[in-house]
Amino acid sequence: MNVELQLNAALGSTHEASTQWNREAAQAVHDLPFNDLLFRAQTIHRENFDPNRVQLSRLLSIKTGGCPEDCGYCSQSAHHQSGLKASKLMEVERVIAEARKVRDAGATRYCMGAAWRSPKERDMDAVVAMVEALRRSAWRPA
Ligand code: SF4
Repeated sequence: MNVELQLNAALGSTHEASTQWNREAAQAVHDLPFNDLLFRAQTIHRENFDPNRVQLSRLLSIKTGGCPEDCGYCSQSAHHQSGLKASKLMEVERVIAEARKVRDAGATRYCMGAAWRSPKERDMDAVVAMVEALRRSAWRPA
């Protein structure tokens, strides 16, 4: 299969979405010049979504810094001198209030990040309460 056919198979219209991927097709995509890849991606995006609409999302750090893990790239790790001041898990009411605020400002997605490898047992009740409250009422689009 020549490169153009591989590209058509890999990146053609969504009507060809059932086309089987193989190593050559994936390599052809990988090897595309950046602007060609951008053009193809934009074409597929326009076939499936309103081209001029973007999703507004908001990320809130509900527990910042002091993570015991040592991920080399992460400023939240307690192992690095990032100057970040570690904080405890945010109160549930404050997380919900922030969610309402960003929802009312037009965000349609709300993400919460916490500097943990995994939550501590003592934090689970609060985390569950946040998720339940958001699912129940606070995060309904206005
Ligand atoms: S917050 Fe996540 S990425 Fe950062 S050090 Fe902890 S486990 Fe690693």
